[in-house]
Amino acid sequence: MSTDYYEVLGVPRDASAEQIKKAYRKLAMQYHPDVADAPDAAEKFKEIGEAYEVLHDPNKRAMYDRGGSPLGGAGGFGPNGFGGFSGAGFDFTNLVDAMFGAQTGRGPRPRVRRGQDAVVRLNLTLAEAAFGVTKPLKVDTAVVCSRCGGSGAAEGSQPVQCGTCHGQGEVTAVQRSFLGEIRTSQPCPTCRGYGTVIPDPCGECSGEGRVRSHRTINVKIPAGVDTGNRVHLASQGEVGPGGGPAGDLYVELKVAPHEVFSRNGDDLEMVVHIPMTAAALGTVVNLATLEAERDDLDTEQGSVEVQIPAGTQSRARIAIAGRGVPRLRGGGRGDLGITLVVDTPTKLDAKQRELLTQLAEVRDETRPEASVAKQGKGMFGWLKEAFS
Ligand SMILES: [Zn+2]
Ligand SMILES: [Zn+2]
Repeated sequence: MSTDYYEVLGVPRDASAEQIKKAYRKLAMQYHPDVADAPDAAEKFKEIGEAYEVLHDPNKRAMYDRGGSPLGGAGGFGPNGFGGFSGAGFDFTNLVDAMFGAQTGRGPRPRVRRGQDAVVRLNLTLAEAAFGVTKPLKVDTAVVCSRCGGSGAAEGSQPVQCGTCHGQGEVTAVQRSFLGEIRTSQPCPTCRGYGTVIPDPCGECSGEGRVRSHRTINVKIPAGVDTGNRVHLASQGEVGPGGGPAGDLYVELKVAPHEVFSRNGDDLEMVVHIPMTAAALGTVVNLATLEAERDDLDTEQGSVEVQIPAGTQSRARIAIAGRGVPRLRGGGRGDLGITLVVDTPTKLDAKQRELLTQLAEVRDETRPEASVAKQGKGMFGWLKEAFS
């Protein structure tokens, strides 16, 4: 135990936690490497930190008082050196930030930086989303200035070292205060932190190295996408300042509602009306599917023949496997669900009325007993789904 931590902090051995904290703050401010000029300031600062780390912690302090070594052999500071520790209720890093202003990175910032990501919306029809499509998309992003090639300097000229900061990118202000000298570093106002200035900026981009441009790119949309899916196009976003590498482009997809088909996961759902007689006798109907909207298929694939069995009730659903939406991942396709609605005839001529009356008599249904349905929990849910 070469150092006496109480001595380092200048407090008595029975100092209260508050006294220790106060003493530490005072010394830390005095010896912080950003304020202190003394050659041994950094060493002293480290010592103060070490002392505080032990004495502000009741357990470590007790161990120290008993003659133990609470910080271990290596001196106890983590690999981060200063600022990596924080005591209970007292965050050293915050204190320094509050006192000296958050330190920006040292040295000039690069003129060439990566550009930002961009997001664009793309509207799709249901068929495009289901079967995939390659679509032209207009994007408006920053691109490399073609006149200066991204350098920002007019032809024949070059960026030169900034005279204000001498290439450092930051300027230091020294203030005198009760704590001594306080130095604050700020980005150089002349070169905005770059360390260089462009005396003769490119006329096209005003020295930015990039210009805004409209362009059209072809976006390949995979089969099976849905609203909210994003297509990621690497390096198609904004070109960075100074002609820096482009960010990425995200194409956010929005699928328009279809007038016939609705989508439920990988299933396509449709509602089909059939006459009462067909429902009773059974029939076959030919229905156009969503594929009919694809121009790369022949018409046979754009329809499906559906067997409707005799005695079909309203709201029966017939599922045709493999005619729904292709799965975005995993392959295969969902079902095409056909929900049937049985239409009761409304305009009867004399003959039809006669026939139906006869039928009712034969079936003993002229004065049928109304059979009251139990409240099925799916009933109203189904109605909402089928007619929405
Ligand atoms: Zn330019
Ligand atoms: Zn400068």
